[in-house]
Amino acid sequence: MGLVRQADAPLRGLNTFGIDARARLLWRLESLDDLPQLCEALRDDAGKGQAQPPLILGGGSNLLIADDPQQPIVQMALRGLRIVHEVGDAVIIEAAAGEAWDPLVRWTLSQGLAGLENLALIPGTVGAAPIQNIGAYGVELRDHFESLDAVDLGSGTGRSFDARDCAFGYRDSVFKHAGAARWLVTSVRLRLSRTADLKLDYGEIRAELAEACIVAPTATDVADAVSRIRRRKLPDPAVIGNAGSFFKNPLIEAEQATALATREPGLPCWPSGDQVKVSAAWMIERCGFKGMRVGHAGVHERHALVLVNHGHAGGGEILALASRIRDAVATRFGIRLEAEPVVVGAPQL
Ligand SMILES: Cc1cc2nc3c(=O)[nH]c(=O)nc-3n(C[C@H](O)[C@H](O)[C@H](O)COP(=O)(O)OP(=O)(O)OC[C@H]3O[C@@H](n4cnc5c(N)ncnc54)[C@H](O)[C@@H]3O)c2cc1C
Repeated sequence: MGLVRQADAPLRGLNTFGIDARARLLWRLESLDDLPQLCEALRDDAGKGQAQPPLILGGGSNLLIADDPQQPIVQMALRGLRIVHEVGDAVIIEAAAGEAWDPLVRWTLSQGLAGLENLALIPGTVGAAPIQNIGAYGVELRDHFESLDAVDLGSGTGRSFDARDCAFGYRDSVFKHAGAARWLVTSVRLRLSRTADLKLDYGEIRAELAEACIVAPTATDVADAVSRIRRRKLPDPAVIGNAGSFFKNPLIEAEQATALATREPGLPCWPSGDQVKVSAAWMIERCGFKGMRVGHAGVHERHALVLVNHGHAGGGEILALASRIRDAVATRFGIRLEAEPVVVGAPQL
């Protein structure tokens, strides 16, 4: 236990794209007691001319490392899970930021707590979950978010953020925006329930439950069904490097969506508040990229949204393919795609 420092650290095993980059300096934070020492070390480094804020690393499953990062990296390894508070059916749990997300989901289910079942098997850590407000199968983190604790790595001071402070949006939060990179999330509190309010109407959940002959599902049955669907549909980063969906589904105005759907019959659209969400995967496939391979970079053969590393792609190669896709979609559909993963060592796409 403690604060572990490593110079010239290999990053290949620390990002799910499997990009073979190296970090000038990597700190691994295993205890909150070491935060003052970490903040001081980072200030020292900044004093030696390091202008960029540190990069915080969880499971590396939502990152594209385009080039060797020059900023120091802080790898989050704080552990701990507990029930904080229970009133009637409502239960608040707290998880340290370095806990892995899917084991947290399974732990809550083992405690008889429902709410996170549709978010089963999302890779990564608890601390990263609020950063992009993770979502899957009709549920987002914000649906169960209570608050989080974070430390400003510049000053070493801590504060709590409630849902309003986090300004959650679709795959978005205040932490993804300029100036917020200094906040190190240390723990997250979630609001769960002893009574399950199951969300079964998204994707193939009902069909999967029917296939397993389950007529009165529990929250654990739903997590199992979601996990089976995900295993079937998504490429495993242990087998082929990827960061899940590379592009967000764009949100456009209703008028633009109607005009587009008339011009491009079959374009999947879903209402989302005042706007309409359109399928990025469908547009990418229509532009002919599904299954394409350029050197070691590629688009998965079954998922047009998933960019993959066929072995030894550099981050720049993946980024070049992503730019090509973005330009082709903009030309044909007049829509600018936005990348979901954070790009390190190059401008955001
Ligand atoms: C196969 C696959 C499937 C996926 N499916 C989904 C899905 O269904 N839904 C979904 O939303 N996402 C999905 N993702 C993306 C990813 O799993 C999530 O975004 C996850 O929350 C990232 O966690 P991480 O710990 O790996 O974060 P990292 O990739 O390490 O970091 C991501 C961002 O969060 C920041 N960060 C990480 N930890 C902290 C912290 N403690 N404090 C402050 N900032 C921090 C990093 O600096 C970076 O900006 C998928 C990825 C893969 C590979």
